[in-house]
Amino acid sequence: MRPPERRLLRPGIEDVPAYATSTHAAAVHLDRNESPEEMAPELRERVLAALASSRWSRYPDAHGSELKAVLAAREGLRADSVVVGNGSNSLFLSFFVAAAFPGRRIGICPPTFGLYAPWARAAGCTVANFALEQVDLAPSVDAMLSAAREDPDLLFILCSPNNPTGTIFPREGLVALLSTGALVLVDEAYVEFSGGSARDLLPRYSNLVLARTLSKAAALAGARIGYLLGDPPLLANIEKVVPPFGVNLFARAAAVAALSDETRMGARVAAVVAERERLARALAALPGARLSDSRANFLYLRPERPAGDLFEGLRSRGILVRRVAGTEREALRVTVGRPAENDKFLQAWKEVTS
Ligand code: PMP
Repeated sequence: MRPPERRLLRPGIEDVPAYATSTHAAAVHLDRNESPEEMAPELRERVLAALASSRWSRYPDAHGSELKAVLAAREGLRADSVVVGNGSNSLFLSFFVAAAFPGRRIGICPPTFGLYAPWARAAGCTVANFALEQVDLAPSVDAMLSAAREDPDLLFILCSPNNPTGTIFPREGLVALLSTGALVLVDEAYVEFSGGSARDLLPRYSNLVLARTLSKAAALAGARIGYLLGDPPLLANIEKVVPPFGVNLFARAAAVAALSDETRMGARVAAVVAERERLARALAALPGARLSDSRANFLYLRPERPAGDLFEGLRSRGILVRRVAGTEREALRVTVGRPAENDKFLQAWKEVTS
């Protein structure tokens, strides 16, 4: 008789897709929604000096209490309303580990950020898709509300502004969803470019968690710092499965320096927003693609021609953008770069769409 098959890993993990990052080399990278500008040189010097005099042999603070205090003060919250981690990605995983149980459903609004569904499934949950409307990209709030009323365990991961569409989850919809009592995580990775946040809803709703990152507006994607904002007792339980020492001493020093200079961060964000609007106006005046109303540091283009052909056309001209899911067909996501990079993109776009 054959021995029973041995399970090495969770059933179904083979079907979870690996996170795909592009490995193409290009002169102009507009594919990762990074900040086009670095942190100011004198701040970088200050970070390097602090590191030179610190002890690398010692563990850092287990849960980043200094950084928590800085972030909490910035948001007008108590320090225990904040959890910090090694990029918001790692906090999503901790969130799923803390929240998942067999049979739990996680509602998302595709097309959206590509990590939620695989990780929700990897944590043992089932994904419930509430697709954005095909044309205007609005979420199906009514369907979400009735699903939430039917299944009190249904939790939602919303992304606002949404990657890849750049669109905002409507505030009345969010309030209605929170009023059902459902647990809602709003990923605000791009919130600084949008002019609005669900932050003010936190005191009213203990079932709301916000996820933020220093990878975008704070220009620190390389340092890996993310944070959650929410109700202290809920966050205390999530923090139990956030790896201790996740914000290392280099990342902590960079984060504290970046957050000490709100003026320059604000100026960088304003420059990106101005470029986004310039790029959007220029593209809207050209044939070739439909634009969404993006409030992030990227634009979402739904082209008439196959996205793959346009992607290759741009790549052969030294410009890398991102192929992303569309509502009907594949679409393109273009990060707002420096003015000269955006001009190069515009020129190449005219060529590939003509
Ligand atoms: N959320 C969204 C919506 C994103 O687009 C990204 C980055 N691509 C992240 C989170 C990841 O942020 P972090 O660098 O903090 O892991």
